[in-house]
Order: sequence, then structure tokens, then C-alpha cells
Amino acid sequence: MNQDWRGPIVRRLLILIAGCLLLGLLTGEYAWALVIGLAGYLGWTLRQLFRLQHWLKQRDPEQPPPDGHGLWGDIFDALYQLQRQEMRARGRLQAIIDRALESTSALRDAILLLDSEGNLEWWNPAAERLLGLKDPQDTGHPVSNVVRHPAFKEYFDAGRYQEPLELPSPVNERLQLQYHFTRFGNAEHLLLVRDVTRLHQLEQMRKDFVANVSHELRTPLTVIAGYLETFSENQEQFPPRWHRALDQMNQQAGRMQLLLNDLLLLAKLEATSYPAHNQPVAVDALLRDIVADAQALSGERAHRISLEGDGTRLKGSAEELRSAFSNLVFNAVKYTPAGGEIAVRWWGDEEGAHLSVQDNGIGVESKHLPRLTERFYRVDSSRASSTGGTGLGLAIVKHVLLRHKGQLEIASTPGQGSTFTCHFQPAQLAR
Ligand code: ADP
Repeated sequence: MNQDWRGPIVRRLLILIAGCLLLGLLTGEYAWALVIGLAGYLGWTLRQLFRLQHWLKQRDPEQPPPDGHGLWGDIFDALYQLQRQEMRARGRLQAIIDRALESTSALRDAILLLDSEGNLEWWNPAAERLLGLKDPQDTGHPVSNVVRHPAFKEYFDAGRYQEPLELPSPVNERLQLQYHFTRFGNAEHLLLVRDVTRLHQLEQMRKDFVANVSHELRTPLTVIAGYLETFSENQEQFPPRWHRALDQMNQQAGRMQLLLNDLLLLAKLEATSYPAHNQPVAVDALLRDIVADAQALSGERAHRISLEGDGTRLKGSAEELRSAFSNLVFNAVKYTPAGGEIAVRWWGDEEGAHLSVQDNGIGVESKHLPRLTERFYRVDSSRASSTGGTGLGLAIVKHVLLRHKGQLEIASTPGQGSTFTCHFQPAQLAR
């Protein structure tokens, strides 16, 4: 309260008391005069209070406060100022909210706010278009009631939202949507849903193109390779200067066939998200075959290849796992000098199942490691032709592992060797 008002209040009270005393002097009834005077003051104060209450009850910010004198006038004015300030602040806030709502309404992407349990709290109009949400029927319901897909529930429950999830829209199968969760505040969720149909179509076109080209090239290449093989077998019928050319053509046709096979396998892996045959696979037996083939591949280079397994069985496709594991073991043979050691180990524990392929070969510099699983990525392209690799081996490994909920870990030191380890989740074990 303003200090300046103390003087006038005290003065007014003193005048009132002096008046009462004067009245007491005239009438001889000091006590009554004081009582009457103070009761009058109390009545006036109460009247101001009632006026204030009446004004506050009106709740009309446009209505000016009642006129008042002295301290009461000051209180009325101060309250009026406060009320106007609050009104202006509320107006500004409302404008911000209106703008935010306007902009989210104009967005083509859907935005949904969910509580910590995944129940729907708020969404923008795009969410109604993309997911078929209805206001207010869906408010408070779990989002997994709206997007009824096992993969969506699994993704939400797992709580690992680094990578977005892609699924068809629940209201229109032709729309491909990308779901991205973000946690905020008190474990609440913000769900962003983007229409990625166009991107999906382009990606599909790319996959189809690669698959079709590989498929179309296979027949002519088989014919060419077949003839070349026959020519090579009957080299004596050709002039000697052709021999080298025939050998090289034969070798390159073989490489092209390997490349096409790998491309077709990758296309097949990309076409579906789960292995067609989700059967228990006896990995030990599979690895024994692979190690025997690797020994044959090693031939005169005589690598010492050891195999350890504990009988753990894995759910998945034996055919796909064979491709992935053989790529790792054959790579170890290809990138380890003659006489080197290769250890293949397969074991299960409480963290899942693991396959490690360790060699003491040439190794890879750490700067290449993050990119090794990219298609056609090679550490040393000049070396690729001598090893006969397609550059697709580790890409195949990565895809097969993705489909089996596994991860590839690569550790390598140049000149000392590499260890490629596949980790599978406990849920993938066949008990
Ligand atoms: P490639 O057909 O060329 O072997 P991959 O995709 O199988 O293609 O491997 C990619 C690259 O990773 C290879 O070119 C090679 O440089 C490197 N690489 C893979 N395995 C090993 C290994 N065991 N030791 C050293 N380098 C390796």
C-alpha cells in the first residue's frame, strides 16, 4: 500500500476522534459520542466493502470500479489496474494458443498428444484424416485401439523411438504412414504421423527395378556363362591368344552371376519384413556345413578354422541364416592371409544368442566400420576384384539380422584381425 496514505488516514481518524470528544464535551457523554463516531466510521468502511464486493461479483472487466475516496479509492484503482493487466496477459496468451492451433490445423502431418499410458488427449485435424480419429469419442482411449497393428503396439511398448515406424494407414491401406514418438513432460508422448506414401512408392519402385533388372539379366547371363564355360573346357580348339581372354570372360561371368544372385537375395529380403519360415533352426549343424564349405574355399591357403557351439537353437529361416553366417565366415577366409586362424563360436545366454566369427586377418580401419554394411561399400576397391566379393555380403547379413531381430557388432584392428558378432534377442531363441 502507498505510504502517502497513512498520514491522511491517521489525520481523518484523529479528526473523527476530536469531533467525538467535542460532542462528548457538549453533551457530557464521552463514551456514547465515541461509540457513535466509531460506529459511523465502521458503517462507512463496510459500505465501501460491499461496493467492492458488488463490483467484483459483476466479473465485467469493462465495468469501471466504484468511485471511492482515500484508501478505498486507491484499493479500487489498484484492483482495476490488476484486472486490466490480467486481461491483457490473457488476451496475449489466447492469441498465442489460437496461432498454435491455427498452425497445427494447417499442418498436413498429424500431431497427437498422449498421456503416459498412451491414451489420446488431443490431436489436430490431419490426425482425423490420416488415422480416422473422431472427436470426442476417441478422447481418453488408447492409441493402439486406433492403430490396430501388432507392430505398432510392440513399437510403443518397447519405448525405443530412435527410428520411426512405417505402417499403412488404418483408414486407407494405400496410404503409408510414418509414426514417430517423442517423450516429453511427465512421461507423456507426442506422436507425429507423416504421410510418406510418395517416398514409399519411390522406394518400392527402386526395389522393383533392381529386382526386375536382376531377374531379367539372369537368363541371358546363364546362357553366356554356359557357352563361356564350354569354350573354356575346349580351349584347345581356339587359337592360343584367345585363351587368356576366355579365362577372364569366364571368371567375370561367374562374378556377374554371384552379383545377380546377391541382388536377387537382397530384393527378396526387402520384399517382406519377417522370414517366411519361422522355424527352430539347428544353428550348430548349419555352421558345421558352412565351416566345411569355408575350408574348401580356403583350399591351399590352409586356414585353421575352429567351431564351437552349445546347441542353442534359433527361431527363423534356415536359408536366410545360412546366407548371413556363410557371408561372415567366407569373408574371414577371404580377408585372412594363408595359414591364418578363424574361430567361429555360437552360444546362448540370458541376453540371447550370439555368433562370433573371429579372424587374425588384415582387419579394417575404424573409420570404415560404420559404413561396411552399405551396399557395394568396399574398404579397398582394388582388392575386391581379387577376392571375388560382390560388395553385398554384409548388406545381406544386416538385412537377415534385422528380420531376425538381431544386430551386428564389428570390432577390428588393422593388421591384427576382425571379429564380427551377431546378437539375437532372447525372444528369438527356440526353447
Ligand atoms: P565383399 O563382397 O567385398 O566382401 P562385403 O559386404 O562382404 O563385401 O564386405 C564389405 C567390405 O568389408 C569388404 O570389401 C572388406 O573390405 C571388409 N571386410 C568384410 N569382412 C572382413 C574381414 N573379416 N576382415 C577384413 N575386412 C573385411
